[in-house]
Amino acid sequence: MSAVMKDKAGRQPPKKLSLKQNYEMLTRGLGWEPSYQKKEDIYSKLTYEGIHIHDWSAWEDPFRLTMDAYWKYQGEKERKLYAIIDAFQQNNGQFNVTDARYVQAMKIFLNAIVGLEYASHRGFNMLSREFEGVGPRVAAQMQAIDELRHATTQIHALSHYQKYFEGMSDFPQQFDRTWYISIPKSFFEDAQTAGPFEFITAISFAFEYVLTNLVFMPWMSGAAYNGDMSTVSFGFSAQSDEARHMTLGIEVIKFLLEQDERNVPIVQKWIDKWFWRGYRMLAVLAAMMDYMLPKRVMSWKEAWEIYFEENGGALFADLERYGIRMPKYYEQTIHEKGHMSHQLWSTFYQLRKAGGFGVWLPSEEEMDWMSEKYPDTFDKYYRPRYEYWRELEAKGEPFEFEGLPQLCQTCQWPCLFTEPEDPTQLCFRHSKYKGERYNFCSDGCKDIFDDEPEKFVHAVLPVHQILKGEYFREGADPRAEGFDPMFEALSYMGIKPGVDGGLFSEHVDAKKWEEWTGRPANIHEGPVSDAVRKTG
Ligand code: FE
Ligand code: ZN
Repeated sequence: MSAVMKDKAGRQPPKKLSLKQNYEMLTRGLGWEPSYQKKEDIYSKLTYEGIHIHDWSAWEDPFRLTMDAYWKYQGEKERKLYAIIDAFQQNNGQFNVTDARYVQAMKIFLNAIVGLEYASHRGFNMLSREFEGVGPRVAAQMQAIDELRHATTQIHALSHYQKYFEGMSDFPQQFDRTWYISIPKSFFEDAQTAGPFEFITAISFAFEYVLTNLVFMPWMSGAAYNGDMSTVSFGFSAQSDEARHMTLGIEVIKFLLEQDERNVPIVQKWIDKWFWRGYRMLAVLAAMMDYMLPKRVMSWKEAWEIYFEENGGALFADLERYGIRMPKYYEQTIHEKGHMSHQLWSTFYQLRKAGGFGVWLPSEEEMDWMSEKYPDTFDKYYRPRYEYWRELEAKGEPFEFEGLPQLCQTCQWPCLFTEPEDPTQLCFRHSKYKGERYNFCSDGCKDIFDDEPEKFVHAVLPVHQILKGEYFREGADPRAEGFDPMFEALSYMGIKPGVDGGLFSEHVDAKKWEEWTGRPANIHEGPVSDAVRKTG
């Protein structure tokens, strides 16, 4: 068909649309002005947070991605990813990872991160409904679909491991109930139950823009270093989405700050809150990087220096012109960088029977790596502890904490972190609200509570639920003879008592690994050394 079509009036149609026109038609052109409903009824959540928007069209879309291009592009990525996952499975790729300790780290990702991706999917769907501007609505809609795709591709990439190893079969249940998974869960639920502008500041800016490299780098580089090609492929497939999400994060912050001066203090308060919440959540990544990856990418301290102190420092210097300063309590993150991973791993070790993965003490070689990476703190505070625990293990009396820890009402970690200036003293803070006492792990978490106590008194804390007798499976009878509350609580969380947690040396994963591969479960081939060592 080469004849030029003409309309009834004999006019020629316009030439092919320019990219820009096409983009306008397929994004902003999708919006319309309401004729019989009031805007404030349709977009009812846009004013109560105190944010003022004057011109939604000022929103810039750096990617200029249309919905049809989005589907095509994502579909291609999906085909490539599943081809690699298939090949990984057919080649028994699960046995090509460094050793079975690596799989313990993957359990945390499956149980924690997949649920977060799904929560993010829901959150961005809400934004794509609640925002008045078409530009941000389209961006939020695409991100909502991305996040759903992340959840499903992660489940598929990791599902293969679950056929061979313990601790992955109940991930939705673990996400909802497990004591250390309640930290990421509560983080996202706090964001989802905030208003739309706080949600996008929390997730797109504070998390995706400021902190996301600290998640992606250890996970994806860690997977590559440790021979997990399935997870690496997922990572590559998600990376281009991530680039879009980060750009959305910086766009939204500039948009909010440029629209009205009154937005500045509100946005600063959210940055303070969400930086601290995000940072606390990342403690688990710190422990994973320093302890759980048989081959290290870099230390947590190095990662924090590069991705927060340098990159974040430059970012906040740039935002100064809007009247935005560094997040409150960032100095404390610098104090803590030499301690956090060690304090958390020690906690997981002591509470190992309530964990969903096996734990171990670092080897001599690994402790030497830590001495080098943590010259000011490791030998002084943590090596003696591990050496003592090693002696106790050798005597057949491994050290264990038998009580239930006190949880922070805000971040939900056990109060395991130390005083800002004294790493030998645990940090406890508390607030009184309506006659009740609430406990916190830090000044940052106390501040967040004090600003919105009505919200945080509702927090569901797993330890409190256990003590209240509400963490038991249906039909469990606490009066029955031989009733074991810890066994019941763990079962309720989706953890198999006596199987999923405990010492790695006695763990069923370690035993099966040795049987199947003929290789030791906890000795990787090659040195502990990492990428950063080469560059200095
Ligand atoms: Fe995601
Ligand atoms: Zn806390």
